[in-house]
Amino acid sequence: MAFKEECGVFGIYGHSEAANLTYLGLYALQHRGQESVGIASSDGGRLQIHKAMGYVADNFNEATITRLAGMSAVGHVRYSTAGDSGIKNAQPILIDCAHGEIAICHNGNLVNAQELRDMLVREGSIFQTTSDTEVLLHLYARSKAATPEQALIESISQAQGAFSLVLLTKDRLIAVRDPHGFRPLTLGRLGDAYIVCSETCALDLIDAEWIRDIEPGEVFIVGPEGAKSIHPFPPARKAHCIFEHVYFSRPDSYVFGRSVNEVRTELGRRLAKEQPVAADVVVPVPDSGVCAATGFAEAAGLPLQMGLIRNHYVGRTFIEPHQSIRHFGVRVKLNPVKSILQGRRVILVDDSIVRGTTSRKIVKMVRNAGASEVHLRISCPPTISPCFYGVDTPQRAELIGATHTIEEIRRYIDADSLGYLSLDGLLAPVGDQRSSYCTSCYTGEYPVAVPENEAAYLQLALKLVE
Ligand code: SF4
Repeated sequence: MAFKEECGVFGIYGHSEAANLTYLGLYALQHRGQESVGIASSDGGRLQIHKAMGYVADNFNEATITRLAGMSAVGHVRYSTAGDSGIKNAQPILIDCAHGEIAICHNGNLVNAQELRDMLVREGSIFQTTSDTEVLLHLYARSKAATPEQALIESISQAQGAFSLVLLTKDRLIAVRDPHGFRPLTLGRLGDAYIVCSETCALDLIDAEWIRDIEPGEVFIVGPEGAKSIHPFPPARKAHCIFEHVYFSRPDSYVFGRSVNEVRTELGRRLAKEQPVAADVVVPVPDSGVCAATGFAEAAGLPLQMGLIRNHYVGRTFIEPHQSIRHFGVRVKLNPVKSILQGRRVILVDDSIVRGTTSRKIVKMVRNAGASEVHLRISCPPTISPCFYGVDTPQRAELIGATHTIEEIRRYIDADSLGYLSLDGLLAPVGDQRSSYCTSCYTGEYPVAVPENEAAYLQLALKLVE
């Protein structure tokens, strides 16, 4: 699977080891972004920040954590979905303005960021980053509202699209979720401390108790006077990202009120019923295909075996020898287990086909390892449309599901058969909540108006990285 993950956010208020726990929380959320990491803390008077490119584990030590003093902190792991991936775009973004210091962490993507940015630049704003998130801070800094809280609401009200935000001022932690609730954001407690984070797996690691999700459209504020919630935005149709269940979130998390493992396993069961095929063994494409493959094998009454092994320690780049190695890019991450695949009819289970190039290499690798037949099963429908809400998808023209029939895709990836889960099957595990989900990348129907000129929008994202 070649979708890039988006971002993970974490915030804590009222704990003597706030920065250390934020660091651990980000550790648990590392799967949501590996390009950069940052933590900001408050000692009640001033904010401190540390940001770096790369993994959480490589960028924090005793000294950096000690420097991040105070009882509250916010943190962010980033994969850039808008703007480039340099350190200047790493989050939290910290500014000082008439309303005081504020640090912001954002998961999602604002669909009207460019319009807002153009307007702000015309009126004199000077931007430090190319990320859509900075737009919110400019709106906040310009606001004439009487209090920081009112200024924040006034600025965020102008944003459209997906935003799960965690913000820190000198004496408050604030969590905001867009009225559609595209991205997850959840609330926990650790003793007297409050925690907000993208997924419950971050709560588990620090032994915190899950309380509830931050609701779509909710602004949750905790400060010296205690915690409160307000709902300042007009209500909107809920649009939780179904792809969090298919791929993004960790299977040990509860997201949108459901166990990711349960949903993902059920997708596999349904896929087996919708797309049966005679075979000897079910093999997941690790790691993201494992839960669906488990469900598939269970429903099909076939053995599940780890016929592809993933190297978990692959860095961001590797030096390829001059004498080229066939399928090096895939092979460095995945290697076939010949004793499982040889002479057998194999069902490969994966969660998506984006451009088709990786699937083609994996099918070939399994065939070369001796499989007599290779059948590919995908635990969601074909991806036919880009995401504008925080998931890094290529342009429509590069999505093989948008430009080719299923039979053409099968021929391209050279599988003996190819089967996708239907849209109905995808939504079945979320039961009567199905109308609360976004499925735009499978249907092309968008719950929030997307930029009219899609190509120009995506070009803009490209242009920004030059
Ligand atoms: S378009 Fe797809 S990936 Fe984007 S929010 Fe909707 S379901 Fe999620």
